[in-house]
Amino acid sequence: MGAFFDSAHIRYTNIDQIIQLLNDNPLLIGSYYIVHPNNGWISLYLEVCDQEIYETLSFQLQTLIFAIKIYEDSIFYYFCYDNGRFIDGYESQVDLVATVSDDKKKFMVGDTSKWIDKLPCVVNKNMVDNILYSLSNSGLMLGNYPDEFCDLIHLPNALLSYDHIYENDKELLLSVNNLDSFIHCYHPVHFKKCTCPICIKKTYNSNIIF
Ligand SMILES: [Zn+2]
Repeated sequence: MGAFFDSAHIRYTNIDQIIQLLNDNPLLIGSYYIVHPNNGWISLYLEVCDQEIYETLSFQLQTLIFAIKIYEDSIFYYFCYDNGRFIDGYESQVDLVATVSDDKKKFMVGDTSKWIDKLPCVVNKNMVDNILYSLSNSGLMLGNYPDEFCDLIHLPNALLSYDHIYENDKELLLSVNNLDSFIHCYHPVHFKKCTCPICIKKTYNSNIIF
């Protein structure tokens, strides 16, 4: 089975506010990792991913949220929310798996003009469009195109997911250059002795015994 990736990137600077909103959201199941601002984004990795949570957050914060998903190493998706509205999405192979809800299907057109000017950095639209074109023609072999897409729009650590961090996927985590700024948010009753690489490091650093 190929790898699954799921991450969301929030155009915002106040991480405490996001944590509070997430913890108050009745849709949230399980725990999550959240990362201090990087390149103008706060990254989020939910244990149980839910596009509705991203949509709600985008509304509550009145900002842009870019979610990246890869299904079994073979289908690349993005979902873009702005001020609580789903403004654009993309899937490299349409209709192969039912991971996109019917209400979103008609917006999965990969129209970069809807969001390219809202990014925290200047991005060459033609280059992004070319990558999406290549992805649409690459079948189930995505190659390096997802990496190139995320690099081009300066999304930090987008090809990563909750499980990779929690299960300490060393190979993937080696390419994460700001692991120290990751926070594991969880209900303490369920994770009294969390041994994920983030908590272990923090426990060691602060000499706290849980
Ligand atoms: Zn942990």
